[in-house]
Amino acid sequence: MIGELLIAATLALTPMAAEEPAQMPEDYTSMTQVEPIGDTQTVRVTEYCPACNSPNGHGSASGVYLTEGHCACGWLPMGSIVIIDGVEYEVVDVCGTDAVDLFVDDDSGVCRCDRNESVEAVIVRP
Ligand SMILES: [Zn+2]
Repeated sequence: MIGELLIAATLALTPMAAEEPAQMPEDYTSMTQVEPIGDTQTVRVTEYCPACNSPNGHGSASGVYLTEGHCACGWLPMGSIVIIDGVEYEVVDVCGTDAVDLFVDDDSGVCRCDRNESVEAVIVRP
């Protein structure tokens, strides 16, 4: 009889014990910790085009045919994404400077690359 009462008391207490007050702060923490999508940092931005690419044309170190939206960088791994002014550039080429070199192509065959400025960029590594 006493054993049955203990079981009944245990069952009655079990739901309360199962609530685990620690679960609330845990959920709260996971909701406030936003997964980082990239690092924001200041980078120097330059540009290059088929006319000043070396060798001339659309060739890149990775073998990818260069088009707008591609960039070269000497300090980021291939496949990294650099977001500048909301535009994504994928690193598919290497560059001999400390800059992120954006590929531009206006089909003119004439190099008008004169961009050289420091900007805030979001960098997402592969
Ligand atoms: Zn150029």
